[in-house]
Amino acid sequence: MKKKKINLLFVDDEEQFLTSMGKRLEAREFHVLAVNRGEKAVETARTSPVDIALIDLKMPGMNGEQTLKALKQEHPWMEVVILTGHGSIDSAVECTQGGAHSYLQKPCDLEQLLEVLKEAYKKRVMSRNQIEGGRMDELLQSVKFKSPREILQRLKEIDEGANNS
Ligand SMILES: [Mg+2]
Repeated sequence: MKKKKINLLFVDDEEQFLTSMGKRLEAREFHVLAVNRGEKAVETARTSPVDIALIDLKMPGMNGEQTLKALKQEHPWMEVVILTGHGSIDSAVECTQGGAHSYLQKPCDLEQLLEVLKEAYKKRVMSRNQIEGGRMDELLQSVKFKSPREILQRLKEIDEGANNS
């Protein structure tokens, strides 16, 4: 069976973080579309399928909040996780009220990132395939170790299975 990856749109003006974290996510369950500006993120989402967007809050040009709004307007099903630096938690909370799935404070490590991305992808799979919470818990029960990576793999199988049937 062809291995499908989770399409992640990663937007951050800190290019070093974008590149290094992007590579690490790419080595796992994700196909990473990495861009350094909100404007580019909106363009990219028009031409490539995106399951989850991971968006830095503070960027020159379109900031994270504006990027979130633009993406959600064109792709209401897309789940968005906001990355925020020290001191901008209030704005990040506002973003969750404006449709972001959740936010994560930087600096963050890979495991923390996988944890929030797992939750966002779970919601994405549930809404795309119309799976309710209880049913999803049942579907995830078969996962042996419950690490974010294993859950992500299982979610991907559920998503593929539902699309193929
Ligand atoms: Mg920034």
